[in-house]
Amino acid sequence: MVSTATALRLDNADACIKCGLCQLVCPVLEVDPAFSGPKVLGPDWHRRFVAGERVTDDTAARCTFCQLCESVCPVGVPIAHLIAEHKSHLDHDPRSRMRDAVVVRPDVLARFPWLTRVPRQLAPVAGLSSTTRWPRPHRPRAASSDGGTSRVGTVGVFVDCFSRAFDGATIDALVVLLGRAGITARLVPADTSVCCGAAAWASGAPHVAEGRAREAARAIEADAGDLDVVLSVNATCEATMHGEWHDVFGIQTSVPSVSAVDWLLDTGVLAGLVERRRRGDRPKRLALHTTCRATVAGEGGADVAALEAVGYEVVQTELSCCGAAGSYAFKAEHAERARRIGSRVGPPAEIVGVAVDSATCALHLGDLWGVRATHPLVWIEEAMRP
Ligand code: SF4
Ligand code: SF4
Repeated sequence: MVSTATALRLDNADACIKCGLCQLVCPVLEVDPAFSGPKVLGPDWHRRFVAGERVTDDTAARCTFCQLCESVCPVGVPIAHLIAEHKSHLDHDPRSRMRDAVVVRPDVLARFPWLTRVPRQLAPVAGLSSTTRWPRPHRPRAASSDGGTSRVGTVGVFVDCFSRAFDGATIDALVVLLGRAGITARLVPADTSVCCGAAAWASGAPHVAEGRAREAARAIEADAGDLDVVLSVNATCEATMHGEWHDVFGIQTSVPSVSAVDWLLDTGVLAGLVERRRRGDRPKRLALHTTCRATVAGEGGADVAALEAVGYEVVQTELSCCGAAGSYAFKAEHAERARRIGSRVGPPAEIVGVAVDSATCALHLGDLWGVRATHPLVWIEEAMRP
């Protein structure tokens, strides 16, 4: 039985015209010929499934849920979402089941960030990779800066679970930039960890994704319902809130979420900061990796514009997907594949680092390429220091 959540998204499930385009863009297929590929694992599997054939293909678990296949399908088959459904019917060994029960709830995991300090030798016991770089706990400094000191106004800043536990630097950078413009940032949620549900979708647990998404939406309503906008820093969360929340679950919050970089550009806030600080530094060459989810959502252009506005020479990486895919690269059985996906191209020459608006992608690429990789907002804040 296809889950209710996914069923809403399966309108075009049987529309495949067998053009093969999805196969050409799949990053897993590029590095892993044994992977059955999007067409076989998505629409072909689904057709047999609804006809009553209860067959599954274990390689479905290797899909990163990048959604690049969906983005090129000429007839709109929800390929990645079908594969997520396929994953939910796979038989997993008990250790993987236990691990994935935790992995699909990263908001719960984020309440115990010290777990990443557990000795690496113990990782295989939990089905985790002992070679993948782990994040270090780093909470945002500003617990809440909504102290009524605003000169211009207050905006919400959505603190996703990973940022709350491990990527406080990005939230801090945004709060500092807003503060320099006289805008008060209110962290949303104020003091609890929530998840948009992206990790659960990617691991083939749409029903868990729906629960996480509804809880996150309630938290946004409760803590930011009186504001005009909530800014988000993570491309995957942003894509999930605009994609699955809306299209699959029918969730809409009264306050819209907008990419922080887009908002800084569109409102002229960034231009105002640049104008105040204009100085003639030699441009630094910075690579920009637009994540797969941001590419599929048609985003990435704002990051280029914002980084160039503050003086960087930006060179786009040629990587469609880095292989980090949230928790994917942390799982023992996917770690090597994730490295191969991210190593399809190397870093551009003579860069000071990489800007990437997903903290797990930044961790993965920084490790693979041996360069500093962090969120565009961190690079922007550094360039704008007085
Ligand atoms: S979602 Fe990405 S990894 Fe999965 S089949 Fe589609 S292109 Fe391949
Ligand atoms: S791109 Fe779409 S229509 Fe073409 S083979 Fe893939 S699922 Fe079928």
